[in-house]
Amino acid sequence: MNTTLTFVIGATASGKTTFIQNYFSNENAVLLNVYDYQQAAYKEAGFGAHIPFAQEFKCLYKANENLLTDIIETLQQGKNVVVEQTLFKAKRRIAYIDTIRKSVKNVVIEVYVMCPTIPVWETYINKRGLDYSAERLKSNAEEIEFPNPSEGFDKIYEVIDNEIRERMDAPNPEIVATALKELQEETERLNKEENEKKQRLALIESMNHRPFWHYCECCGTKVYCTAQEAFDAGWDYPPRVGSFGLLSPRTCDKCNITDTLFWKVQQQSLPLVIEKSLTEKELKTWQRIRNEPESLLTDKNNLD
Ligand SMILES: [Zn+2]
Repeated sequence: MNTTLTFVIGATASGKTTFIQNYFSNENAVLLNVYDYQQAAYKEAGFGAHIPFAQEFKCLYKANENLLTDIIETLQQGKNVVVEQTLFKAKRRIAYIDTIRKSVKNVVIEVYVMCPTIPVWETYINKRGLDYSAERLKSNAEEIEFPNPSEGFDKIYEVIDNEIRERMDAPNPEIVATALKELQEETERLNKEENEKKQRLALIESMNHRPFWHYCECCGTKVYCTAQEAFDAGWDYPPRVGSFGLLSPRTCDKCNITDTLFWKVQQQSLPLVIEKSLTEKELKTWQRIRNEPESLLTDKNNLD
């Protein structure tokens, strides 16, 4: 027997939820909403309302993956699924459909694209009390790549205000090839970033045990030793005192905080490093600090 998977996609406040309530709430279907998955992903990553952009991408990516897993499991149980999604980009839909078709036999996949006219859209926005301009709406709407049959949909509809129209554009297999290439590049990029992050963490962790150069920024003494040895000898140095890459004193046991770059900067009205106001010695210290811990890992015999 066939199961049906229905996507309802569209921009913010384009009427997705109401449409689903009106047309699918009495059907024998499981309703899933990407918004719930996004909130869960933000929460899991430890973010509230303010999320750094790079992290947001990862959270959205994770939310999409978790939602996909649930779609597949529900279809495999023989139930119909209705999904409220954004899925603006053909490549995201292609990745979804590709995975679903591989995991579930005999599934009919259809999509409804919310395309409200601007005046109707504005009434949705006002009803929700959102602070959106008509220009922002338009640019949001233009971000949606209208689904093409080549993406793997059995049926495609556009929903314009209260009207549902079937719209099957001419197949365009090229978008699939492009999407698959982009998706592969994206996976490679994410893996690379993840590896770099792991390597960086391993490097920072290794600084607790390995010997490295300790430079006194005041008297110029340099000692190649471990963090523990430096700490025992009275040095103020990361990782025991301060953090790598951030401005704080780097001093031996004989020197004073008042002679450090950190101290000088703290005396300014704005405690920011202004490179052109630094002496040559201070600039060297600053550059070394900014490039920590790598700058402390030159060969033991290398006297720079
Ligand atoms: Zn010193």
